[in-house]
Amino acid sequence: MSLHANGLFKWNKMFLMSLILLLISFTMNKNHLSSKQTLAIPTLSSQLGSSIVHSSLKDLKLEGNISFDNIDHAAKDFGNRYHFLPLAVLHPKSVSDISSTIKLVFGMGSSSDITVAARGRGHSLQGQAQAIGGVVVNMESLWLPEMYFQTGKMAYVDVSGGELWINILHESLKRGLAPKSWTDYLHLTVGGTLSNAGVSGQAFRHGPQISNVYQLEVVTGTGEVVTCSDDQNSDLFYGVLGGLGQFGIITRARIALEPAPTMVKWIRVLYSDFNIFSKDQEFLISSQNSFDYVEGFVIINRTGLVNSWRSSYIPKDPVKASQFKSEGKVLFCLEVAKYFNPENNGNVNQNIETLLSELNYIPSTLFQSEVSYVQFLDRVHVAEMKQREKGLWDVPHPWLNLLIPKNKISDFAAVVFGNILTDTSKGPILVYPVNKSKWRNGTSVVTPEEDIFYVVSFLSSAMPHSTGKDGLEHILNQNNRILKFCESSQLGIKQYLPHFNMQDEWKAHFGKQWEVFKGRKSTYDPLAILAPGQRIFRKAVAFQ
Ligand SMILES: Cc1cc2nc3c(=O)[nH]c(=O)nc-3n(C[C@H](O)[C@H](O)[C@H](O)COP(=O)(O)OP(=O)(O)OC[C@H]3O[C@@H](n4cnc5c(N)ncnc54)[C@H](O)[C@@H]3O)c2cc1C
Repeated sequence: MSLHANGLFKWNKMFLMSLILLLISFTMNKNHLSSKQTLAIPTLSSQLGSSIVHSSLKDLKLEGNISFDNIDHAAKDFGNRYHFLPLAVLHPKSVSDISSTIKLVFGMGSSSDITVAARGRGHSLQGQAQAIGGVVVNMESLWLPEMYFQTGKMAYVDVSGGELWINILHESLKRGLAPKSWTDYLHLTVGGTLSNAGVSGQAFRHGPQISNVYQLEVVTGTGEVVTCSDDQNSDLFYGVLGGLGQFGIITRARIALEPAPTMVKWIRVLYSDFNIFSKDQEFLISSQNSFDYVEGFVIINRTGLVNSWRSSYIPKDPVKASQFKSEGKVLFCLEVAKYFNPENNGNVNQNIETLLSELNYIPSTLFQSEVSYVQFLDRVHVAEMKQREKGLWDVPHPWLNLLIPKNKISDFAAVVFGNILTDTSKGPILVYPVNKSKWRNGTSVVTPEEDIFYVVSFLSSAMPHSTGKDGLEHILNQNNRILKFCESSQLGIKQYLPHFNMQDEWKAHFGKQWEVFKGRKSTYDPLAILAPGQRIFRKAVAFQ
């Protein structure tokens, strides 16, 4: 480029920046909220030339780097259904890299529709960590000083927002500690799960992961770096927890720890009656000296189920277990686990006997195994490796996750299990209750209005190009039938990992929390720059 051309370019840039600042004053705080607005992914119709945006980003002084080529991976996620190409991918090495980038984008104001999405592991289902024509922040490259551990009574660890839970587990175990609350799969980032909730079989006792965080460091939608906790900038803290990435990018989190066990007794039993199954689950999550993990799943019309468990579990009564027939039946499997250290094996066995004696499962279906704590927590990774080998990991995943109030779960089960769904060959269906009292008050997550509600997850995989029952369209139709049934019967459910296309649907999802959510958006991300892939707010672009 000639010197003259360079000078002209710089002048143009200055002129445009002044224009932008003027436009910001017109559009700030309007929040872009027409209630009938369709939140379809916007096309890139930038008023500010994309070449100027490109060169401004390129000129940023960063400790990490920003790439404009080979960025296709940022347009993919686990759902494998939505693919939106960003303009650039930021690989931050410091919090200030993220802050400078957001400040630059904020400074461009409403003359540009450029947005910013943090991407953890990209295990979203519908493009939630994508930003069409925007900047995707690869959180895994964020470099912070090593994990900092505080041991003692209030043990915790400070980790980067892009850290994987599996790494936190391994590091904590070196100190005999571990986080209290998990997800079923640990190859997810801290920022990604805290932006949702983070639930698994420990949540009945400890609450979800968002209930087990002491402090966060967040870069807001204006580029400000803020430390927040229960008593410092608490509005931002509660907003960000379960906030679907709308109010800031989590760059650091302080996670609560507890002494870690070394071993786990892992137990499965079967039921043929949903009401007996759920009554037992509810008993277990309300008991004092209960298991450490309580989940469950549905099995519909499965041949040779019990035999397939034999490689991992030992039946209590092998003869009767081998006679048990699963085909043609709708069964419910209670899955529980008790943590222990070998020195107190005897007491734990006794405790388990007592608990099992209170339950009403089919006696011949008691299966048990003993594994290390890490093997237990990292169990889904084993399934991942198997699926990868068969080429079944990178297929479309039309998952549906629901939170269903306790007093409606029986109605739901009667209509959905065995009727709308006549087999479970497309993937597991998890069903387990949690105690609402363990969910931190004031966060952005919305849950049903009852003391106990169920997490119900339809974790389907679709066969690419299939037009049959295992195809995407068929599964999506089934999901829609389930959602329609919930709506017409007014079950009072909430979606977990929610996904909607219309702002009215988001309003209905948040219910009375909508005004707070919207208010926080105006405060912390007034131009609606962050996490556009959630499709809750849309960045307003000023007309020339
Ligand atoms: C195999 C599998 C098993 C799962 N099991 C469970 C489970 O047991 N329990 C459960 O609760 N969930 C589970 N999930 C869902 C999982 O919690 C979400 O998909 C989560 O968003 C994934 O984290 P991620 O790091 O890949 O986030 P991404 O998909 O990268 O991001 C999710 C959202 O969070 C935003 N985000 C990402 N990082 C940050 C950050 N640092 N700051 C602010 N916003 C950020 C993104 O912009 C996006 O909107 C599972 C998912 C998979 C694929």
